[in-house]
Amino acid sequence: MAHVQRMSTTMIKTLRDDPADAETASHKLLVRAGYVRRTSAGVWTWLPLGKKVLDNVSRVVREEMDAIGGQEVLLPALLPKEPYEASGRWEEYGDLLFRLKDRKGADYLLGPTHEEIFTLTVKDQCTSYKDLPVILYQIQTKYRDEARPRSGVLRGREFQMKDSYSFDTTDEGLAESYRLHREAYTRIFERLGLDYRVVSAVSGAMGGSASEEFLAPAGAGEDTFVDCPACDYAANTEAVTAVVAPADPSGHGPVEELDTPDTPTIETLAAHLGVPASATLKNLLVKVDGEITAVGVPGDREVDLGKLGEHLAPAVVELVTAEDFVGRPDLVRGYVGPQGLGVRYIADPRVAPGTAWVTGANKADTHARNVVCGRDFEVDQYLDVVVVEPGDPCPRCGAGLEIGRAIEIGHIFQLGRKYADAFGLDVLGQQGKPVRVTMGSYGIGVSRAVAALAEQTHDESGLCWPREVAPADVHIVAAGKAVQTELALELAEKLGAAGVRVLVDDRAGVSPGVKFTDAELIGVPTILVVGRGAASGVVELKDRRTGTREELPVDEALTLLA
Ligand code: ATP
Ligand code: MG
Ligand code: MG
Ligand code: MG
Repeated sequence: MAHVQRMSTTMIKTLRDDPADAETASHKLLVRAGYVRRTSAGVWTWLPLGKKVLDNVSRVVREEMDAIGGQEVLLPALLPKEPYEASGRWEEYGDLLFRLKDRKGADYLLGPTHEEIFTLTVKDQCTSYKDLPVILYQIQTKYRDEARPRSGVLRGREFQMKDSYSFDTTDEGLAESYRLHREAYTRIFERLGLDYRVVSAVSGAMGGSASEEFLAPAGAGEDTFVDCPACDYAANTEAVTAVVAPADPSGHGPVEELDTPDTPTIETLAAHLGVPASATLKNLLVKVDGEITAVGVPGDREVDLGKLGEHLAPAVVELVTAEDFVGRPDLVRGYVGPQGLGVRYIADPRVAPGTAWVTGANKADTHARNVVCGRDFEVDQYLDVVVVEPGDPCPRCGAGLEIGRAIEIGHIFQLGRKYADAFGLDVLGQQGKPVRVTMGSYGIGVSRAVAALAEQTHDESGLCWPREVAPADVHIVAAGKAVQTELALELAEKLGAAGVRVLVDDRAGVSPGVKFTDAELIGVPTILVVGRGAASGVVELKDRRTGTREELPVDEALTLLA
């Protein structure tokens, strides 16, 4: 009975109550329905049901990656420091990296993403333009010491990611590899049954230019995106450009550079806040005792507020969210970082509202006044804007924008030659001369996708999986005595033999009521109840999602399901 799983012998322990610390539906339900268990903060054990769903997601990802010619490999998670030093990320990643030493004292890290090692792999394996293009991928465990691991497997410190990397000799080749990935991602998320949007994104710590995110709209998401109802414009608010640019740039004078040690540069802020102004400090807005102020962190907006809080005690430190800026255009104007350098526009409360100040890492102890996005900086490459309100004009067509929350489930980047430059990745070109390779990198949160699906598809009774990812096709409930259990097992065997994946609740001494509740909670798409009608050969079929029930003879049920 290869496709049959009996609840009497499977480790499935459902819980009546939500875990105390759980805030999101996916966290509550995946724990309660026995899919995952917390091992430590942001570190999760996948139990039998959960592992099945995780494997189903992986299978879909794998099939679609193979379909675009991706070659699956498996790189280590335990990595030497040196390549990450060469790329600069040993420093850049700061506290996000899990670092460790071996017995000889050599530095290692647990891989957060693998651009460096893939670049080295290709450098080792590919010597000629004839070896390219190549797309390599893996489905592997990643480690990031997230500042706020929460929401269950939605944001883990250990999590499963599909990461792939493309290697091409030409820009056109890279564009094609990127297009292939974009299409593969579209197919993957459609097959998984996720509601998603493709939006423009910033490229964050990865560097590089073109980048899009796949976002799954959900209240539990940590990303905010704008969506234009009138055209196809959609962007992470981190990437919105025109919205924040002053309506009339001509009203602003030329950029004035100010030597302003007493205004909030990163360094002066660091000093002001009592945070060591080390090289890794740059670009973060936080609220200190309710006042928005800037301090620095590496990479994106994540910071270990606990640690920061210790420095700042007794001040109360909170992370600023986009909502904090709604209706406060006087506070923050945006965030531009040509070539990945962060520059934050801050309107200092001490200057006239609407006057943009720049504080940032581009020039120490210098601020600029009258900066206009797009005029004074390349804004299209790397722009993080937090001032956007519903109804703001779409930068493409002018219609009122809608704003929503979403979960980042995938991210695709055209990296360009950043890593090839760092590691001298060349192949012999057609003319016999070395050609520098250009790269793309592409991620899917495999474990996060499980949580995103749970967020989008659950109802008040429990999980409600799309068939492709569900841990089984049919959940047979033996509701009664031995007669019912016997028939339930017989049906399970027949369906299993026909290739239908069956979970059968054959537990003795468990009331039908508890079994029904568990079936709803576990969320298999079809529930087949073997109850009172069993003696006369009648069973009940229930569609988990719609709640539709139907009584029918056993044979008909079998034909329908097999
Ligand atoms: P986020 O903005 O949510 O922190 P990210 O932009 O840092 O994600 P990427 O570096 O783009 O993540 O990684 C590729 C994918 O891996 C993401 O799109 C996301 O789906 C997934 N992912 C990233 N961090 C986590 C995490 N801590 N837990 C689970 N999945 C994650
Ligand atoms: Mg992140
Ligand atoms: Mg992100
Ligand atoms: Mg990302």
